[in-house]
Amino acid sequence: MEDEFAFISSVAPKETLQNRLKVGIGDDAAVYVGKSDSDEVVCVDTMVEGIHFRRDTLTPFQIGRKALAINVSDLAAMGANPAFYLVSLAIPPTWKNEELTELYRGMNELAAELGMDLIGGDTTAANESLVITITAIGTVRRDQALRRSNAKAGDIVFVTGELGASAAGLELLLERTRSGTFSEEEKAVIKKHQEPEGQVQAGRVMAERGCRIALNDISDGLASEAIELAEASEKTMILKEEWLPLIPSHGLPFSYRQRVDFALNGGEDFQLVGTMGREDYEQLKAVGKRSGLSFLEIGYVEEGPAAVYLWTREEKRRLDKAGYNHFRRG
Ligand code: ADP
Ligand code: MG
Repeated sequence: MEDEFAFISSVAPKETLQNRLKVGIGDDAAVYVGKSDSDEVVCVDTMVEGIHFRRDTLTPFQIGRKALAINVSDLAAMGANPAFYLVSLAIPPTWKNEELTELYRGMNELAAELGMDLIGGDTTAANESLVITITAIGTVRRDQALRRSNAKAGDIVFVTGELGASAAGLELLLERTRSGTFSEEEKAVIKKHQEPEGQVQAGRVMAERGCRIALNDISDGLASEAIELAEASEKTMILKEEWLPLIPSHGLPFSYRQRVDFALNGGEDFQLVGTMGREDYEQLKAVGKRSGLSFLEIGYVEEGPAAVYLWTREEKRRLDKAGYNHFRRG
């Protein structure tokens, strides 16, 4: 990229979706009107080329879309309604202008679906790897944000959908790259890896109910995220292996063991995992059915030290945070 200023004006949105935005891109900072009946929810996440994504498994469009989706998933896990985002880029010489345009087209596609405005960012050079950092901002009704620390003994544990597809898709991509040949079933899991959705609607439906819910999003695998809930709530959680919503076996080259491992340790599914009382859960399931959302029971909460156990047909075993950890290599 030659001209930073031309680049910024090329990515600046021509129109806005949030009517409370007063100053967007082009000044020293963005300004939007605060809401009196809401709490603001803010999160930030970074993706580094070679660590979080590779250009032979994701297109520039998909990298942009996914960088925003990761943040949207964090907002969803608080029950928030997404509103704004800011993008900080460190750009190496290996990235062409057209590819950067594609990156923004990917972000913009998801942002338009969710009514989010791009309101600022920062642009700098990098040596070798693209680094993309997105800050996302949303709102939730006053005091209704869904915290991890809300689990109580007797709660059921639920997830909002299928687990393990993203890890299965990544496995196929690492084997054959994105220019490889794939069956229809393989294409389906690859798409889940490349273009994850984030469960904004499910998060909002839960926050709006106003009942006690502990919630977390699944970015590092169910095991690690459930342990975070157990730790924040200081409770024991029991998951039933036979209740896990695994990816189908048909048309995919993965054993039952692998599909369980993808669900527990694969990560990047961007479903939500949470706990709530049985009665609230039955009502939520009914609401979900009407709006096309699923809330699937996978276990329960007990009084006891912070830990998560998996009941299989043979044994009860303690789960650890075996998901992807960037500082634990090899
Ligand atoms: P400043 O020197 O005040 O930090 P910049 O020249 O960095 O201003 O940015 C000018 C405007 O462009 C600001 O509104 C900033 O938020 C926005 N901006 C800069 N880089 C990006 C980017 N990569 N994506 C979106 N907006 C950006
Ligand atoms: Mg700047």
